[in-house]
Formats: sequence, C-alpha cells, structure tokens
Amino acid sequence: MQQFSYTIRRADDVAACIARFREAAPESCKSLLITVFTTSVNQEQILRLTGRLGDAFPDAIIAGCMTTDVIRHGGVNVNAAVVSFSVFATSEVKVERFNNPETLAEDGKKFCARAKRLEHLAGICILGTLHALDVQPFLDRLAGLDDRVVIFGGGANTVKDAPACVFTRDEILEEGLLAITYAGPELHVHASLNFGWKPLGREFTITKMIGSHIVEEIDHQPAANIYEQYLGIRPDKNFARDTLAFPVFVRRGGSYVARHTIGCGPQGSLLFIADLHEGETIRLAYGDPREMIEDAKAGYADMAAFRPEALSILSCYAHRMFLHGDVKFELAPARDIAPSQGFYTYGEIFRFAGRVGVHNMMLLTVGFREGKKPLSPLPVRGEMPTRLKDSLLLVERLVRFVSATTAELETANEELDRMARTDRLTQIANRGETESTLKNAVAVAEKNHTPVSVLMLDIDNFKKVNDIYGHDVGDRVLTETSKVLRAHVRQGDTVGRGGGEEFLLILPHTDEQAAVQVAERIREAVAALRILPGERGFTASFGVARIAPGESFEAFYQRVDAALYEAKHSGKNCVRLADAPTRKK
Ligand code: GH3
Ligand code: MG
Ligand code: MG
Repeated sequence: MQQFSYTIRRADDVAACIARFREAAPESCKSLLITVFTTSVNQEQILRLTGRLGDAFPDAIIAGCMTTDVIRHGGVNVNAAVVSFSVFATSEVKVERFNNPETLAEDGKKFCARAKRLEHLAGICILGTLHALDVQPFLDRLAGLDDRVVIFGGGANTVKDAPACVFTRDEILEEGLLAITYAGPELHVHASLNFGWKPLGREFTITKMIGSHIVEEIDHQPAANIYEQYLGIRPDKNFARDTLAFPVFVRRGGSYVARHTIGCGPQGSLLFIADLHEGETIRLAYGDPREMIEDAKAGYADMAAFRPEALSILSCYAHRMFLHGDVKFELAPARDIAPSQGFYTYGEIFRFAGRVGVHNMMLLTVGFREGKKPLSPLPVRGEMPTRLKDSLLLVERLVRFVSATTAELETANEELDRMARTDRLTQIANRGETESTLKNAVAVAEKNHTPVSVLMLDIDNFKKVNDIYGHDVGDRVLTETSKVLRAHVRQGDTVGRGGGEEFLLILPHTDEQAAVQVAERIREAVAALRILPGERGFTASFGVARIAPGESFEAFYQRVDAALYEAKHSGKNCVRLADAPTRKK
C-alpha cells in the first residue's frame, strides 16, 4: 500500500492536492481510502471539500472528522485540513455509518456479524462523536471479533464553540460513528500504545456513580472536590480545560488506565467519556514529559520492527496541551518509519484487557502493510531533546518529587497498618486483628460449607512465672509460645494474641477432630520447652471448637472459652473440645 497526504489551508489547495495525488498515484489499486481530518468547524466548507474529492475519485471511500490539530508526516498542522490517500493494492476498505443512539447495540451486533464474514479482516477504525454519543454499546459487540483484528479509533474533537462531527463523502454527523473495515489477504495491521502519565498522591475510592460516566462522590465527598482541594481547580466553565493534564487513573487488569474529566455537574459530580465504576480505586495523575517522549520512542521502535508502509497516529489532545511545542519530539520519529497522518483525539478507542473501549491520554499509533516484511532493519532516530523547555523541566522535577514522596508515604503507611494489626511483643496478630479475623471466619463459615475450627489456649499458672522469675522471663514465655504456635500452623491459618497469656488459632478447612490433634501437638511442644531458669518447663490449657453454621460470634466465643475453662478445671495441661451449640428453639 501507499499513503499520500496533503495539507489544505485555502480553497485553492484542494485542486493542487487532487492534481498532486493523481501524479503520484499508482496506475491501479483495489481500494482507495481518503481520510480528511480538519480543524474547520464549517460544515458547508467540509462538504465542499469531500464533495470535490468524491467527484475526482468516485470509487474512493471517504471518511473523516473534526479535530483541534492535525498530524501529518510526523508533525502538527494547526488551522488546516489534512487529506490522506491510502492506496491499497490487494485490500478492501469499506466504511459504514451509524447515528441512531437507540439501536447502537443492535447495530454493533449486526456490524460484527458482517465483519466476521469479511475474509482476511485485519483492522477496524472507529471515528465517533464521543461527547455526543455513547458508543460503548456498539464497541461492546466488537469484543467478539478475533483478537488478531486490530480495533482502533478516536473521537472527533474541536476547541471551537461548535459540535465536533464525523463525516463521509456527503454527510456530516454531529452524533454518529463511522466504522472503517480493512480486509485483505496480504494486509497486516499493528498498533502501538504509549502513555507517559504518572499517578500522584494518595488513592481515593469512587463511592457513588450514576451510570458509568458520571461520578457523583469520591470518598463520600462531591467528586469535583478532589480537583479543588488538591489542585486548586475550581468547578467553573474552564474546568475541562484546566483538568486536561490531570487525568484520573484507575487500575484495570493490573495496570493503570487514564480517564479525563470532560466537565462537572451542578452538585460537584464529574463527567467522563470513558467508563468508571463504583468501588474502583482512583488516583490523580500528571504527565512526566520525559517519560512521555521516551515511551513514544519505544513505541516507534516497536512499530519500526513491524515495517509499516503507512501510519495512522491518533493522539489524545492532552499530549498536545501538555507538551506544547515539545510535542514535536513525540511525533518526529514517525518520519523515519513511514508516511503518517492522523489527528488529536477526544478519546482513543482500542482493545484492552479483552474489551473494546474508550480511553484517554494515550498516543495510539497504527501501522499498515500489504505483503511481506522487508528483511532490512529500519533505524529510528527519534532524538530526545537535550533540554526540555524550562516549564517542562520544572514539571519533570516536581512530578519526580511528588512520585518519590508518595512512594515513601505509601511504604510508611503500609508499615503503620501492619503495626496497628500486630502485637508488639510476639509479632503475631494482636487482639483487634484476631477478633476481626475470627468475625470474618464466622461469616465465611455460614456461607461456605467448609469447616473452620478455633483453638483457644492459656498458659497455666502464668502469674507465678512472673512472680517467681520476673516479668522479663514471663515475656520470654510468651514469645517462645508464639513461635511454637507459628511452627504448628499452615498457611492461611491465623495465630493471634487474645490478650495477656491467652492465644487464639483460627484454622480454616479444619474440622474439630483435626483441630484437637493440632492442639495436642502444640500442647506437647509447649510442655517440652525448657526456657525457665533451671531448665524448668511450663504448660498450657486448650479449648477447641468448630464454628457452627449460623452461630453468632458471641455465642461461638463463649463456647470455646467454656471449653478452655473446662480444661483449666480438669487439672490444666490438657485439651477440651467444646460442646455442640445448643439449638435455638
Ligand atoms: P491459670 O493457670 O488459671 O491461667 O492462671 P494464670 O496465673 O496463668 O492466670 P492469671 O489470669 O491469674 O494471670 C495472668 C497473668 O499474666 C497476670 C498478668 O500480669 C500477666 N500478664 C499479662 N500480660 C503479660 C505480658 O505481656 N507479659 C508478662 N510478663 N505478663 C503478662
Ligand atoms: Mg493463665
Ligand atoms: Mg489468662
């Protein structure tokens, strides 16, 4: 395949573009795709342009959208339209349009069925008016397509005060989506994704949502508060623009994806074009300019290895806003690879973790090739700026500072959390932690039908140990006992200190007979310890019980405590199994 792109700034440029392509175009082709990305919001002007292109190339497929800035030949074109001719020698390109929000799910299903019947389908590009139309019901249906079909796309965008549109040869859709299919026996499509944003500060939880695009509350506060409180961004008319470089990060499938808020509602809710869900943990994020450029470079290296003949670059407008003039470093390596064209998007569409969805803040590069890969390697220069612009340099340092501080705080918080749950002397679970584990175990025992048993043990005559040998020896008895306990349990069991010289063991998947055996072994091991002065030993008494289904925590606790009391009254240094719970009448 071949790709030729021309920049149109004035009406005269159209004739020149048509003439130049005619000169450059190969003799024949299987299909011709003309894409038009334009910063113009003048619908008549756009239709004139696509109409002239359609008249000149009646067999061509024409598709395009409005954008804030156009990408062409590894650079940014402002205030222009870019017309690209993609000439496929052996592949078939088609475009379909959808604009009925009521039937999008059904349309997606039918489109998917048709796509499945296309032989050698290699790629699908979706262009949509994502702010005006929820395309997710359509995208959901595409997940059923073979994983090898590269699905990509982007949202129409404009900074001007007009609706962003997608269009074909003779129709402009303010609320619609275009689906372009690329199929061919020799066609290869490859996508590369770049990110470069970093989480900042602490985690928050989404506590209330309306649907999957409006976040009402974060940590039980109006959602927009996080922008005002942490970044000083007020919920006014500039909100979407001011927050553009501060996306929300959400953890999905083991990594972060970004969500950009597109506005805020009256009660401090946040609006998104990509989905979020109640209970999800989020963080604020910001760009790391150097990482963004480095990431892009790595992406181009990957793309160069694919040896594409043409590139489509769909980049989130946030990259443009964030990097300003230095965005050239992010795009320039494309020049070494293949002719490129694309646009700054309002939402990037791709398949991630098994789902086709709308994402934000990404740089998405898609390569096309018909035929075999040339064997010769393709060097990619992609020079890194020696020095970023001063403002970006400052950003880079501050982002690093916040990231490092956050990491330190997280480690410290984890340690505090661990300490709050651990008994200082014996380093096993403390009373509070043990009790909450036991409460959970009681709840789980009710749901699952696997047995859970508990051992309660108390050191015999411990007061005397303290009185005779001193408190330090008493402490040693406690630490050595806890070691014995730990040595006798399996992974998943809990060893906790119930208070004083009393311990609790929670043993999931263990019935009462097995628990009594464990208790006996521990009893013997404790009695065999010789840590008191003069090689003297000490003993412990045990109560054992299995949690009965439906039993309350209190009732269970009383039952196992009574078994321990039994053991104490039977002469100590022994194990007693609790009575079965008395049935409620
Ligand atoms: P029994 O055989 O009936 O269990 O009698 P006991 O002496 O073991 O029980 P009692 O409840 O009378 O005494 C427990 C003692 O444990 C009293 C308390 O001072 C001591 N104790 C509680 N916590 C600690 C601790 O952390 N270290 C030390 N050294 N002693 C402790
Ligand atoms: Mg005791
Ligand atoms: Mg006691």
